[in-house]
Amino acid sequence: MRQRNGRKADSGVRVPLDAGFTLMEMVVAVFVVSVMTAVLTPHLLGASERAQAAACEQNQRTIRAALTEYYMLHNAYPQGDTQTQLETLKDDKLIESIPSDPGGGTYQIEDADPTHVQVSCSKHLTLPTDQ
Ligand SMILES: [Zn+2]
Repeated sequence: MRQRNGRKADSGVRVPLDAGFTLMEMVVAVFVVSVMTAVLTPHLLGASERAQAAACEQNQRTIRAALTEYYMLHNAYPQGDTQTQLETLKDDKLIESIPSDPGGGTYQIEDADPTHVQVSCSKHLTLPTDQ
């Protein structure tokens, strides 16, 4: 009862009835949002591309590690074209599934040298051979 009657609970700050944003405040807010959008958009678009390249690189490492393991088991690399070689690795349970490039590229296993293979992607960079 006392609080309802007493006006001392109010802070005493008077808020005008037409309180709102002025045109200048709106212009500043829109300007700030547009600058932030202009700065962030290129970074966000590039992030997807970088993530795909990183996943592709990891896939290439996985394929190469499986090929090395196959070589240690059989003293030779799997025969056939890339798809056949990947299926051989999967059949030998050296890879869980045949990896697909997140960017839509295709993997290529080149084994012209019987003691060395090179895994490459048609869309992304190929890993250096010494890794
Ligand atoms: Zn790729």
